[in-house]
Amino acid sequence: MYNAKILIDRLAADHTLAADEYLYILSNTDAQTLAYINNVAAEVCASVFHKSIYIRGLIEIGNVCRNDCLYCGIRHSNSHVERYRLNRDDILAACGEGYALGLRTFVLQGGEEGGKASDDFITGVVREVKELYPDAAVTLSLGEKDTDTYRRFREAGADRYLLRHETFNAAHYSSLHPASMSRDNRLRCLADLKRLGFQTGTGIMVGSPGQTAAHIVEDILFIGRLRPEMIGIGPFIPHRDTPFGTCRAGSLEQTLLLLSIFRLMFPHALIPSTTALATLSPGGREAGILAGANVVMPNLSPASVRRKYNLYNGKACTGSESVEGLKSLEESFRAIGYKIDFGRGDYAG
Ligand code: SAM
Repeated sequence: MYNAKILIDRLAADHTLAADEYLYILSNTDAQTLAYINNVAAEVCASVFHKSIYIRGLIEIGNVCRNDCLYCGIRHSNSHVERYRLNRDDILAACGEGYALGLRTFVLQGGEEGGKASDDFITGVVREVKELYPDAAVTLSLGEKDTDTYRRFREAGADRYLLRHETFNAAHYSSLHPASMSRDNRLRCLADLKRLGFQTGTGIMVGSPGQTAAHIVEDILFIGRLRPEMIGIGPFIPHRDTPFGTCRAGSLEQTLLLLSIFRLMFPHALIPSTTALATLSPGGREAGILAGANVVMPNLSPASVRRKYNLYNGKACTGSESVEGLKSLEESFRAIGYKIDFGRGDYAG
């Protein structure tokens, strides 16, 4: 039989385990083992990033979405959502505000819009942001596009792209998404992004409805093969106006365990302590850092739209989850021995 601590030490040394060994850790981690892996992962992270946390300004550029993901509050069929799109001036103003505060990465995230007009709009905005702020990185998180559109985003200057695969298991993927979406197209998108030279992020929601430990092992193995530069791991949190509105949220403990597993697999990866984690639990953001995360993404969206980008119940978008709260964010980091790094924070593996 396995011993979890021995497996954790081996993961720290070799950066990989066998499928059964991951399954063992996922199924046999008690509070003591969790504290152990979190500490080992935080040490590995500190040896690479020196207790500095990269900061990204998150601009939620619109909540219009053609998809109907069963978990997501801004899904197409949620008629309670007040839809919005930021225009070019709004986005450039948000970047200007973030730049003045010292931010050097802007993450443009939004619902998935189809069509040439929307893709052209993004291409133009990326080009302008890069012209105005050539020393800043632009990350996009706008969902699935065809290969040519990704290429045009890249040629316009986008540096990074976040697209969680959500779950590698095709049947589980189908249970979370409408029939118009497929796991295979998701994987095609990620392969495109990698090939086009984006620093590519993927990841999962922890505790999404129907997720099993065996599914998570498939996710770990997939991420091990893809070798993404960024790994987004956050708990699923229900949104009342979705088909999963009464489902249980993912757990803090399992999220922290997975953050640590991925840190030990990829010492140089950019791994955020997510807003969902901060929403799930007071102190969640700090707990994520102490489990091996090294990125935070405070909200830089105009205050007037923040409440409209409501992915799940209670989503935090003020205080330390917002750029206005940078001081309190810095204080909360200082309290656990960390500091903010205002650099671009590119992947340097
Ligand atoms: N449309 C883009 C996409 O699909 O990648 C970007 C926006 S999407 C809302 C960003 C991420 O929010 C998703 O990848 C998903 O993991 C997360 N998300 C959506 N609903 C959530 C929920 N109920 N709980 C936790 N995370 C959620």
